This record gives sequence, C-alpha cells and structure tokens, in this order.
Amino acid sequence: MNANDEKKQVIIRNIEYLLTSSPYAENDTAASDLFSDTISELFSYHLKSSELYRNIIQGLSGSQITTTPETLADLPFLPVNLFKELDLKSSPTDQIVKTMTSSGTSGQVSKIYLDKDTARYQGKVLNSIVSSFIGNKRIPLLVIDSEKTVKDRNYFSARTAAIQGFSLFGKKPAFALNDDFTLNEAVVRDFFEQYSSGPYFVFGFTALVYFNFLHILKERNLSFKSNQGTLIHGGGWKKLQDQAVSNEQFKAFTQDTTGIQKVHNYYGMVEQTGSIFFECEEGHLHCSKYSDVYIRRADFSLCEPGEAGLIQVLSLLPLSYPGFNLLTEDMGEITSMDNCPCGRSGKTFKVHGRAKRAAIRGCSDVQY
Ligand SMILES: [Zn+2]
Repeated sequence: MNANDEKKQVIIRNIEYLLTSSPYAENDTAASDLFSDTISELFSYHLKSSELYRNIIQGLSGSQITTTPETLADLPFLPVNLFKELDLKSSPTDQIVKTMTSSGTSGQVSKIYLDKDTARYQGKVLNSIVSSFIGNKRIPLLVIDSEKTVKDRNYFSARTAAIQGFSLFGKKPAFALNDDFTLNEAVVRDFFEQYSSGPYFVFGFTALVYFNFLHILKERNLSFKSNQGTLIHGGGWKKLQDQAVSNEQFKAFTQDTTGIQKVHNYYGMVEQTGSIFFECEEGHLHCSKYSDVYIRRADFSLCEPGEAGLIQVLSLLPLSYPGFNLLTEDMGEITSMDNCPCGRSGKTFKVHGRAKRAAIRGCSDVQY
C-alpha cells in the first residue's frame, strides 16, 4: 500500500466512524474537527491522484499549493461545470465501476466516475440521512418516475442513483409514470387504495412530481385524502422557478391533491451524490456531518448569514473524482447556525435558485 492508498483508507475510516452515530449529532465538535481533517485529506489525496486536478489547482494557486490553509474556506474549489467539460477522475480506469451522468436533457452533461468505495459510501450516507427522517423500517413506496429510468442498463443518471438509493427504504416500489412519462393512473389509484391508511412514502424529482404527478391529478380531478405519507423530492427547482412556484405553494399543492402533509425537499447534485442536504420540518436545508456549505459573493469573499450569494458545497464522499469542494451555479443564503428550531445542530441554508448566467460567466472569467 503506498502513502496515497493509506490516505484513502484514513478518509474511509473517518466516514465509517461518522456512520456510527446520527448524521446531525448535537453540537459535536469532534465530528466537525473530523470533517475538517477529512476534507484536508481529500484535498491532498486528489492532488496526488489526479494530474488534471493538480494542474487546475496549480493554475488557481500560482506556484505554491498550500495543503494546510488556516480554515476550510481557504481551500481552492472547482466550479461544478468543470465536470461537464473535463474527465476528472482520481482512481485508475480499471477501478471505475460506474459512470454517472447528470440528468439534464439539453446541452452537456456531467460525467462522474465512481469506484466501488465511492458508490458504497454514497449509499451508506444517503441511508443514514434519510432514515434519520423517515425511520429504518421499509414502507410502501410510490416512485414518481418511469421504471425505465432504473431498468436501462446503458444509462446511469443522477435519477437512477437517487431512485435506487431511496428504494432501499421502500417495500415493492410502484412506478407512477409510464415509459413516456405520462401518469399511470391505475398504479396510483391502486397504491393509495392499498396503502394510504398506514405510513408510506412518495419519492421523485421535483419537476416530475410537480408537472407529471400533482398537476395531472388536479387536471383529472383526482385527489386522495391520506395524511399518513411523506413526500421526498429533490433535483432542482429550475423548471418550477420559471413558473414562479415557491416551496410553500408546492407543499400546499401536494396536500390539496394527495393529502400528504409531510414534504421534504432535498438539495444535492450528481457531483456529490449521497451527502444530500435534507429539508427539516421547519423548512430549512441542513448540512450533515458529511457536508458543509459556504455562500460567496461575486468576488468570492464569504457572505454573512442572511446575505445571498453563490452556494459552495463540500462533501466527504467523492473519492474516485475530485468533487469534494465545488462552487455551484445556485444562489442561496445561510439561515441558521446550530439553532434551527427543529433541534438538529449544524448549519442550515436556503436555495434561491439558479444564478443569472451573466453572474456565473463573470465568476468564471475572474478565476479561470
Ligand atoms: Zn431544522
């Protein structure tokens, strides 16, 4: 085992250690120290493992790369878009078991190369985060997607990964959409008839849930009156933002059509699958022990809490590609630090939506 393999084992041991307790441990300074140490390890691990990454960082930092900056916020980050333009990987090609793509329908897609360990810990961490909200017991699951999305072996997208991940909580997942993404009314009726009296959950990508499920139910005058379920949705508000649908309206619409009162949005991206930011009962997106968020101004200085800027995301999980520290194209703000009324500790934030193209281009020009 060379020194860099050992580094990888240290990172994995740290993740394993965090997995032994709740993902939102109460004021756990040991966990936050471990997070900082592991991010620093990831930084030097990827510098050694990927020449392309090293060259990019070198370009950003000038001649001297500081692997031990004063704070995590001082570490260089990559713009998330680079994964659309470059093949960034830190594991040898023969160790790559899966290539995941973003589910964008137009333009370039991100390509994320997963080795066995990365795929494994993505699953474990997702499990730890989600089960802390909906419990460990497998309950009936209605997936707002087509079964095609998980069956097509030639296509492994962020949606495939998410459905597979969330299916672990579900008993016999039922798929609400046909192969052409129209609503399969019979499946939906059958699901609510059978399961609406007990706990169940519904999962899907935000736009599919809104346009292909809730909207169609309303159009067809179908409604269900079951308040025993939980809806979990994520994958971006872009399309809903265009229609000016807020999170509150989304929740009200869900309750009107399905009766479901417990709705959790999550924020995440294909580049950091697993360590998703889950929305608590108070409507705040929470960082877990596996993730962190910074908000930056156009000049990359850090925003104050409550001040809107570009969202930067950190995750402990990307081992086979250097995606642990990324600047997104989304705007957001920090909403609380260790004092969310839901009782979970850690940083919370909210997402305002996509930044205007001009702002992002401006940022890219400055730094790259
Ligand atoms: Zn909360």
